[in-house]
Amino acid sequence: MQKNYHTHTPRCHHADGSEREYIESAIDAGFILLGFSDHAPYLFDSDYVSRIRMLPEELRGYCDVLLALREEYRGRLELKIGLEMEYYPRFFADQTAFLKDYPLDYLILGQHALFNELDGVFSGRPTEDEKLLDQYVGQCIDGLQSGLYSYLAHPDLIAYVGDPKIYDRYMRKLCRAANELRLPLEINLLGMSEGKQYPNPAFWRIAGEEGVTAVLGVDAHDPRDFQTAPIADGLRLAAEFGLRVIEDVPLRSPV
Ligand SMILES: [Zn+2]
Ligand SMILES: [Zn+2]
Repeated sequence: MQKNYHTHTPRCHHADGSEREYIESAIDAGFILLGFSDHAPYLFDSDYVSRIRMLPEELRGYCDVLLALREEYRGRLELKIGLEMEYYPRFFADQTAFLKDYPLDYLILGQHALFNELDGVFSGRPTEDEKLLDQYVGQCIDGLQSGLYSYLAHPDLIAYVGDPKIYDRYMRKLCRAANELRLPLEINLLGMSEGKQYPNPAFWRIAGEEGVTAVLGVDAHDPRDFQTAPIADGLRLAAEFGLRVIEDVPLRSPV
């Protein structure tokens, strides 16, 4: 694994280390392409302040720092500027208009909350509620269909603990939608090293049967994550279910 599109910065309030430390650590670990995809600032229509993302006024600094580092490291590391961003339908039009002023190379979809975050539900909370599974899958598909995203991060974030047949039906639908759009789905290495509910083998079995294309994501929240990412385990999971893994993700510029 030499290319990673899933990297955070301390602006999201739950990651450590400077941009330079992420870059140096990635180079030491043998990466030749590094995409930063910190949690996107979001234009909510109230005084709600999300504590897991940068503020809208911080996006300029994020881009400026990365543009300067891109020049400095040219020839040693290819640097891409992206964001990990939920699809929140109520705010999406304003949100995408806002992003047009920034030099973004790509977006990845990470649907951490259902509905619109303010009135929403955390996607990773264990649930037996089919309605929430339906909402998660529908929201991911709608997001991907916007054409603005380059891949779906941790597609198996939803912690549905109900009937496996129901899980199968919805997740198959998600995989088919991604295939139609030719978008890869991410095997999240941070979830693997931290023992989260994802990557979920039940999901990747379905993804394998559906012929999904996979991409590995470090989801670095600490520069050391490049050293410790369980790359071999990620590739083993992909091989177990017959998934094709790509490194060269076709990046779609959202601007
Ligand atoms: Zn995060
Ligand atoms: Zn992430």
